[in-house]
Amino acid sequence: MSRRPLRATVAIAIPVGFTAALTVALLVGQGNRAVVLFDDTVSFGLALYATACAVLAARAAQDRLRRTWVTMAVALGAWSLGDGLWLVYDLVPGVEPTTPSAADVFYLLFAVLLVAAFAQLITTATHQGRLRLLLDAITVALCLFLLAWVLALNSVYNTYREDRAALAVAFLYPVFDMIALTIAVVVLVRAEARQRAMLAVLTLAVTLMSIADSAFAHLTAGDRYSTGDLVDVLWAASLTAFAAAALLSRETYEPRTVVALPSTTSLWLPYVPLLLAGTIGPPLVMSGAERFLVPAVVVAVCARQVVSAWENRRLLAAAAEQALRDPLTGLANRSLFSDRLAHAMALRARDDRSIAVVSLDLDDFRLVNDTLGHPAADSVLAVAGQRIAECIRPGDTAARIGGDPFALLLEDRTDDSHQIAAQRILTAFQRPFRIDDQDMLLHPSVGVAVASPAEPDLDAATLVKRADIAMYAAKRSRCTQVRVFDADMPAAHPDAVQRAETTAAPPLSEGAARIRLLGELRQAIDRRGLQVVYQPKIDLGTRRIAGVEALLRWPHPHLGTLHPDTFLPLVRQHGLMRPVTDLVIAQSLDDVAGWARQGVRLPVAINLFAPSLRDTTLPDTLSAALQQRGLTPEFLTVEITEDLVLSEVSTVTTVLHRLRQLGIRIAIDDFGSGYSALSYLRDLPIDEIKLDRHFIARVTTNPKAAAVVDAVINLTHTLDITVVAEGVEDTDTATWLTDHRCDVAQGYLYGRPTTADDIPRVIDAQSAAHVAVESRN
Ligand code: C2E
Ligand code: CA
Ligand code: CA
Repeated sequence: MSRRPLRATVAIAIPVGFTAALTVALLVGQGNRAVVLFDDTVSFGLALYATACAVLAARAAQDRLRRTWVTMAVALGAWSLGDGLWLVYDLVPGVEPTTPSAADVFYLLFAVLLVAAFAQLITTATHQGRLRLLLDAITVALCLFLLAWVLALNSVYNTYREDRAALAVAFLYPVFDMIALTIAVVVLVRAEARQRAMLAVLTLAVTLMSIADSAFAHLTAGDRYSTGDLVDVLWAASLTAFAAAALLSRETYEPRTVVALPSTTSLWLPYVPLLLAGTIGPPLVMSGAERFLVPAVVVAVCARQVVSAWENRRLLAAAAEQALRDPLTGLANRSLFSDRLAHAMALRARDDRSIAVVSLDLDDFRLVNDTLGHPAADSVLAVAGQRIAECIRPGDTAARIGGDPFALLLEDRTDDSHQIAAQRILTAFQRPFRIDDQDMLLHPSVGVAVASPAEPDLDAATLVKRADIAMYAAKRSRCTQVRVFDADMPAAHPDAVQRAETTAAPPLSEGAARIRLLGELRQAIDRRGLQVVYQPKIDLGTRRIAGVEALLRWPHPHLGTLHPDTFLPLVRQHGLMRPVTDLVIAQSLDDVAGWARQGVRLPVAINLFAPSLRDTTLPDTLSAALQQRGLTPEFLTVEITEDLVLSEVSTVTTVLHRLRQLGIRIAIDDFGSGYSALSYLRDLPIDEIKLDRHFIARVTTNPKAAAVVDAVINLTHTLDITVVAEGVEDTDTATWLTDHRCDVAQGYLYGRPTTADDIPRVIDAQSAAHVAVESRN
């Protein structure tokens, strides 16, 4: 324990001890000359002591408080001189005080300076504040005066009524005391918490002084006062309180911070003078029932006032709380979150605990806003906020820090429990949101950044930025997992993600259905609920199945099996291409491996979205996927469409060359439906082209179409590229294609897309038919 509190205790104990001793002395030996001298000496000593304490307080304080204590020190100094003179009057025989005496000059100076000292403490910023202060002061002053009047001053007035000068002198002290006390009370009511104790003691000092002065005036008027009266104890106690206040001021002063709520004391304190005046006064001056009725009314009114002050304080507290809350969700707002985070980071430095920030953003939320309107979007956010809040522990902070971004502050956790909390949120979002009588799924992207003890210098802003980076990484990858920040994550600009997220808002009518479908699609992707079916490709030379094309299907719980044209636009627009491609790769290679185990060696062609070819990791991903299943590269063909952006040909070319290098085959899909086809043939490493179904359908009926297809077949053969005809539905077309040396055909004529399990049967049936055809020839 530091020595300071001990010293302060001793410093206060000294005057308290002397005051107690004086009380005992006056009680025991009132009128005794030794006691009178002891009284004078103790009073003088206490005055000097209080002066010294005030000087110390002034030295330690700053600004306004310093001016207060300087004035107070001078005032107490004046009081000391007055007491010193009084000691002389009593000690030196023959020296008698006149009325008013020289000591009175100093006491009066004290009274004036006391008021000046207290006046320094008044602070009000607003006009209203000043008005309230004035009204408070008037009320308090009137009550005090009323009280003093009925108790003591009434008799003083009656005594000096004829002698104006004497009356003025007799009233001077009580009046100044009351002014000082009034100021003390109104200042105390408005005091900041840290100054409250000091001001309370100061108010006590002035109160004691007021009582002493009024009692003195009362006694003097009745000619009943002489040194050694018990009243002197009140002055001694008052001086002790001044000293204590000065000492407290030294102990508690610190720089001003934020304005706090009014103290509970301030709620009732202004009514204490009213209560005292209203309950003590009437019984003394009135007669009959009003003696009790008036105090009863006063008590009731005071109680009523205190209750409404209490209510105001509660509302103020609610408003202060509101300023830190997001009104929609009731979660913390950005400023509260920042504040808590800063605090946690500060504590972390001290206690080396681990802190995590979770950044969470709702995917496609703009779509919800644009299509369902703000009220619906708001209710989604409110429910989302509630779910998020349910996922954290009581001590943690969940905040909404923008439109749909949320943030969590998780404190004092082990590293993986951060993730568990984040994971709980993902689970919470698996339940649909019910909006406008429709169930809708919303998917959050969640990123976590942990401030571990290993990085003591990490600041709050960086931690938040890291959580955002992890969140954007999650959003980009469209994965359902929580992503934890690592230094390799690219710091994507949020706008880029936003743009990728929503291109154009669909018309309002479609909106709700579309959002719902999107939600369901995301869930289907997450739960591997998309299916891959296979359509055979027939080698026109051998008439055997040369391979299969993998095609996506979505077995929708209510809408039946959906074909790609219904849901691929959503996949493209909402950045779901990567997870869909991953799903198709995994599923189709698993199936190829499965067929191989059953003795069916069948290559598969998968369709890629054009943007996938910008992904330079794609070739190695594919190669690894093949290797994992013990498959060689010839088992895989990738089909790419023509809609490659020409400006990106260089990246795409790199990826294609790498694929070729790895031994994976490359096919151009829907050949002839675009414009840059020929330059592709020249520039890109291509193994196969697939002639668009619309060309093929017309070869037997339209000579121009036939000429084009014939020319393309010849051209591609020159370039050593395989030609596949798509959409072959009848035997005439098949015959035409065979005659024109087309290599491979695909279409309903040979088989509709079918499930993986069905493929071995299709192969058997096909070879049986093949045998039948052979034997017929
Ligand atoms: P595509 O690559 O041109 O696939 C051929 C489409 O033609 C398939 O439609 C197939 O069922 C259909 N088809 C096959 N034979 C015939 C026929 O004789 N007559 C007619 N009228 N149609 C036939 P599907 O399965 O609806 O797929 C449509 C498109 O969706 C595909 O066109 C492809 O561009 C895309 N797609 C399908 N699966 C995937 C996938 O896994 N990834 C990507 N990126 N795209 C896919
Ligand atoms: Ca295709
Ligand atoms: Ca095609």
